[in-house]
Amino acid sequence: MIIVLKPECTKEQQILFSEMLKENYDVKVNVWEGVHSTVLGLLGDTTQVDIEFIDAQDVVESVKRVQEPYKKANRKFHPENTVIDAGGVKIGDGSLNIMAGPCSVESEEQIIEIAKSVKKSGATFLRGGAFKPRTSPYAFQGLKAEGLDLLKIARKETGLPIVTEIMRASHIDMFEPVDIIQVGARNMQNFELLKELGKIDKPILLKRGLSATIEEWLMSAEYIMSGGNSKVILCERGIRTYENFTRNTLDISAIPIVKKLSHLPVVVDPSHASGKSWLVEKLSLAAVAAGADGLIIEVHNDPPHALSDGAQSLTPKQFDKAAKKIFKMKEALDS
Ligand code: PEP
Ligand code: MN
Repeated sequence: MIIVLKPECTKEQQILFSEMLKENYDVKVNVWEGVHSTVLGLLGDTTQVDIEFIDAQDVVESVKRVQEPYKKANRKFHPENTVIDAGGVKIGDGSLNIMAGPCSVESEEQIIEIAKSVKKSGATFLRGGAFKPRTSPYAFQGLKAEGLDLLKIARKETGLPIVTEIMRASHIDMFEPVDIIQVGARNMQNFELLKELGKIDKPILLKRGLSATIEEWLMSAEYIMSGGNSKVILCERGIRTYENFTRNTLDISAIPIVKKLSHLPVVVDPSHASGKSWLVEKLSLAAVAAGADGLIIEVHNDPPHALSDGAQSLTPKQFDKAAKKIFKMKEALDS
């Protein structure tokens, strides 16, 4: 961290300020005295330093972080890619995983039919919401605990590990049989939930918040990891911009950026990013080309009658066609 002191800062004030920094934070302070101003360089772990507090001090002209505030998620301290084993399937090892399934689990027949078909097309995980975070309180809220039971039945039938969203910390025990626990975009900054998920030993799919910066997203991963759970998978699912043709705007550049900044695997959700089924294949191809470790795609056996997100859901046939192209693209990139 670099702190530029105001030109009028006296030697005495500078010494007092440096002493305060050394005392409050476990850092060394290097001093460069220039002709017009003095610059302090803080060496050591500056993650605890409150940059706004420093900036507000009378003697400070400006302050800049030169090191990221996240440590555990940072590639600088963990250069190799993290590979996560979820229900016996590896994510982040260079292979491409496709998580597919309906937005919401609706019935036993529905989830089993979809699970069987997406598996045939090459999906490696079954997704399906049991607890649904809906914008309207009048919209379908999910089958809740029954939905989790149906996902377990579908896993037994197909062998596909399951991914489903948690909304509150008190449900963690109920999610014990789940292979990957999803934290939805709306809960990315539910820090109490993240802290509790940091205490368990289970992969977490952390979706990017609707208007979260990449740094905020990585700080949310840091909440989980600092609690002891290093199995975090990041999921880019589109962010809110001024463009309203699509439901959100898929931030393609976030994929290589996050892969550069962090060692965690990155999965892309083209369904929630676009809100339109006809865009899903194209965005999937772009995400794979940009380096995604996986995709999470909504598939429904009867989209017009889906209880949620029908407009963005592929039919099993459309998914099969898209998956073939996606795997071909991956093969081409690897060859
Ligand atoms: C979902 O995956 O069904 C979902 C609600 O996603 P998001 O949190 O990205 O909106
Ligand atoms: Mn959905």
